[in-house]
Amino acid sequence: LELLDADAARDWMARTAAAVLDERDRLTELDAAIGDGDHGVSMVRGFTAVSAALAAAGELSLPGAVLLLAGRTLVSSVGGASGPLYGSALRAVGKALGDAGGADGKQVGAALGAGRDAIAALGGARGGDKTMLDAWIPAVAGFEFAVAGGGSLDAAAQFAAGAAEGGAEETVPMEARKGRASYLGPRSVGHLDPGAASTVLLFRALADAVG
Ligand code: ADP
Ligand code: MG
Ligand code: MG
Repeated sequence: LELLDADAARDWMARTAAAVLDERDRLTELDAAIGDGDHGVSMVRGFTAVSAALAAAGELSLPGAVLLLAGRTLVSSVGGASGPLYGSALRAVGKALGDAGGADGKQVGAALGAGRDAIAALGGARGGDKTMLDAWIPAVAGFEFAVAGGGSLDAAAQFAAGAAEGGAEETVPMEARKGRASYLGPRSVGHLDPGAASTVLLFRALADAVG
């Protein structure tokens, strides 16, 4: 696709819901190692609620409206850190898309940047703290880099998904400084951050939705 329209935004959320369901056990195992073992369950609960809310909303003509509703739904349906963080991120993405009926690569890149910034503002983490931001930061940078080089929305989203994956892998040797994993101190080293792993699913779903 050349533009992210409302149907593509719905498809993005539907593909994310399917992916977290497929990967529920892996996300939960990652969280059991350095957290409280609920990340898979929380993501499934949240994105199942998003699917239901979008179905109940009927026709939405703007991608921004789809993502605002998705974000609001995540905030209200998921306890724990990840619901408010992902929810605020998607709300910020939706808000940044504004009243565009179809967003091009540049607009989507800026909106994803607003999502990343919302996570940083709410959670107070920075890159290197072993959180979902360690996948979001390179994903957004990769997206913007691809668009700046003349890449299509599709190519930029593919590039972003690859960058998210690389960023998530880089959390393995990190010591957690935010969230539950930080309670473990140096014992958090050697494990992939669960929120970074679910962020890879979100960006992979975006690439598939616009590809
Ligand atoms: P909880 O830790 O409340 O059980 P989840 O298990 O659903 O929540 O999510 C844990 C993930 O949330 C972590 O792997 C990390 O990526 C992310 N996270 C936790 N705290 C923060 C924070 N302050 N900033 C950014 N991300 C965070
Ligand atoms: Mg947890
Ligand atoms: Mg929890």
